[in-house]
Amino acid sequence: MPVPTATRAAVLREHGEPLVIEELPLPGEVEPGAAIVRIGCATLCATDVHIWSGAMSWPGMLPMVLGHEMSGTVAAAGPGTLDALGRPVRAGDRIGWSESTCGHCHGCTVLRTPVACAQRGYGFTQRADAWPYSTCGLAEYSYVRPGALKLLLPDDVPDIWAAAAGCAVKTVVHAYGRAGGIRPGAAVVVQGAGALGLVATAMAAASGAGTVITVGAPAARLELARGFGADVVIGLDGTPPERLGQVLEATDGRGAELVLDLAGAPGVAAEAVDMAAWGGTFVVVGSTGPRPDPVPMGTVMGKELNVLGSLNGDVGDYHRALEFLRGFRARFDWNAMFGAPAGLGAATGALRSMSRLDEVKAVIHPWLP
Ligand SMILES: [Zn+2]
Ligand SMILES: [Zn+2]
Repeated sequence: MPVPTATRAAVLREHGEPLVIEELPLPGEVEPGAAIVRIGCATLCATDVHIWSGAMSWPGMLPMVLGHEMSGTVAAAGPGTLDALGRPVRAGDRIGWSESTCGHCHGCTVLRTPVACAQRGYGFTQRADAWPYSTCGLAEYSYVRPGALKLLLPDDVPDIWAAAAGCAVKTVVHAYGRAGGIRPGAAVVVQGAGALGLVATAMAAASGAGTVITVGAPAARLELARGFGADVVIGLDGTPPERLGQVLEATDGRGAELVLDLAGAPGVAAEAVDMAAWGGTFVVVGSTGPRPDPVPMGTVMGKELNVLGSLNGDVGDYHRALEFLRGFRARFDWNAMFGAPAGLGAATGALRSMSRLDEVKAVIHPWLP
């Protein structure tokens, strides 16, 4: 197969405006450890919606290609390219990958924590007019850098699952890792019923939680949450004290041993701290962006709560995410989270639909017309 030298891509040139379908160059040659991948599918994440709308924005970021959850088939691999488990990566292999890391910064070497890398290659830090141009999902081909740890995909993991594992599912795996796992029988509150919230609900149920409570909206997502193992679902139409009352009622008045913010909405921190049981843990996963959210410090102190941050995940979390999706495919209908696949030209509509909460996770197949 000849090395592709250009790709169609949906380029974000101006926040809030339709993406522009353009042809972008690809690196003419593939570095050792790198690969050019024919994207099989991309799934959109709330971060894509926030970047598209401009809610997340910083100087000099545009133009860029959105989509940081994707998987595909290797069109060309550089010399000696291996996956994270040491297996050769060759043209024709299906792979997924995690954000690139530099391998020599304080975060990489002293902390040995990939998510702390000072030059972490999140897709949204790649400009579409700078080498290597296309590293994201809303393109027919993307360049996977040498520093991005890759995994050969098992045959029974479809492209869509592997894409969603690349951000949403691995972020939840990382968050439970930060929390130290789930105690059998524990009460868990999941704030948020988007893709992260639904996966977190399933992971809590599968991990032996006693009571799983999912808080979110709209009603259709709470219905999905029930299918993903929620024992109790709580909508957002009531007041925070009403929601707290429902959590206490479901937990014999004690509150939840583990609360995860996967919503990032204003006020979630105060509600989480109130919903937490004495000695409980609150993991902040969904609160991205600069806007502060007040935390009742007296409650944190008085209940001796553990408050932890959790940022994305690394290739280890990605591996576990794939295994989780495979392992529980009979128990949970993962495909219920995904929208109907559409082509690059439909990506703007998909972003709009997700911003209205119509779709949980939109799926873009770049090769569809
Ligand atoms: Zn994401
Ligand atoms: Zn680094």
